[in-house]
Amino acid sequence: MSVVTRFAPSPTGYLHIGGARTALYSWLHARASGGPGDGRFVLRIEDTDRERSTDEAVQAILDAMAWLNLEHDGEIYYQTRRFDRYADVIDRLIDEGKAYRCYSSAEEVEAMREAARAKGEKPKYDGTWRPMPGKTLPEPPAGVDPVIRFATPLDGHTVIHDLVKGDITISNTELDDLVIARADGSPTYNFCVVVDDMDMGITHVIRGDDHVNNTPRQINILKALVGDDGDLPVYAHVPMILGSDGKRLSKRHGAVGVMRYREEGYLPEALLNYLVRLGWAHGDQEIFTREQMLAHFDIENVQGGASTFDPDKLLWVNQEHLKMTAPQDLVGELRWHLARLGIDGVDDARLTEIAAIQKGRCKTVREMAEQSLFVFQPVTEYEPKAVKKHIKTATPDLLAQVRDGLAALDDWNGEAASAAVKQVATDNEVGMGKVAQPIRIAVTGGPVSPSIDDTLALLGRDETLTRLDAAVSEFAALKG
Ligand code: GLU
Repeated sequence: MSVVTRFAPSPTGYLHIGGARTALYSWLHARASGGPGDGRFVLRIEDTDRERSTDEAVQAILDAMAWLNLEHDGEIYYQTRRFDRYADVIDRLIDEGKAYRCYSSAEEVEAMREAARAKGEKPKYDGTWRPMPGKTLPEPPAGVDPVIRFATPLDGHTVIHDLVKGDITISNTELDDLVIARADGSPTYNFCVVVDDMDMGITHVIRGDDHVNNTPRQINILKALVGDDGDLPVYAHVPMILGSDGKRLSKRHGAVGVMRYREEGYLPEALLNYLVRLGWAHGDQEIFTREQMLAHFDIENVQGGASTFDPDKLLWVNQEHLKMTAPQDLVGELRWHLARLGIDGVDDARLTEIAAIQKGRCKTVREMAEQSLFVFQPVTEYEPKAVKKHIKTATPDLLAQVRDGLAALDDWNGEAASAAVKQVATDNEVGMGKVAQPIRIAVTGGPVSPSIDDTLALLGRDETLTRLDAAVSEFAALKG
């Protein structure tokens, strides 16, 4: 049997860290099962809660899934476009006596629950409108639109075979006759999920363990539709992610939408790597490429306990990925970050060069972009404080010598450029600082930049010489 998994977010906000991990596990389980192209990964937008669902949230989720490159198969399903289908299934269940119209008012239902509580029982609907052999139902009240309730089995057990939590058994007497359609005809959440999972042929439901309570209800409805011997999906309820204070991860922990991590300069591969390890391990390996995750991931090895989100570790994983990613594969993210800083239209070759120099010295792509800005921004002024401190009467002459040394280099690279700079310091019997700081100010306008090798390598020969020329005359005028 080939595997079909799904990710089924409710579009009430952005894709958060927990949702992204669920999506990743579902994607991995589909893609890692039985070789490429075998499993299917379905994306379903659960937008039936019309008050809380928004188009912006749908878009935010799709953007985040695209950025993470968790590609789904086939069309994207929207529950709001499937209402006719849900209505048909509800009619079928009523016809088969597996669901029924209930005319009890909200007050009556509350009173039933109260009565059950008073007897020390679980608050439940008392079955007034449930058809039973030999029972005569009350006359439907005029002018009342009924809700539709599912006739939950009155005895027996429902067993969840959970790949993460093991078997969970619930007595059906604990379960209410769930409302599956409201008085206005709209289907309810648990019902839509069941019809969808059935229609979409889902074999594995992988989701957060906040849904465990829904599962026995969903299994009973599903059994009513496919029969007791019909195929049921296998469930895997993934434990939640906690913040460092042991509370459920939330905005307070800075863990907001996935795309915030993009803004902060994380690589999608690094975020996925970090997320896959939150609750799953393969020996003591920490760093995984996407291919390695696909090779080793096994949903049955997901651990049952909650895991704790650790931003420092995420940053470390990101840095490791920056180091191991080929410079040309960083171009897309670097371009995106530079564009946010107002720098557009840089060609791939230039960005590859920059990535090659910066990737070993930065923790994030955002930092790479910020620290490369000087390459694209002409020097319009020299920081007065830096000039006062570092530009002396001898500086223009030293810089002119540096300029000539650099112009004479056969090959332009950081090492050669830095050797030429050192040569000038040696020839003039001055410390490196007397030469290096003025060069920094000359080519960036200020005293802070990557090492002199990297700074000059990033700028390139032409731009370095142009900026040095300009600084020589500017500083000469200043000190002359
Ligand atoms: N729509 C649900 C959520 O966003 C997920 C439901 C499911 O996976 O069954 O929490």
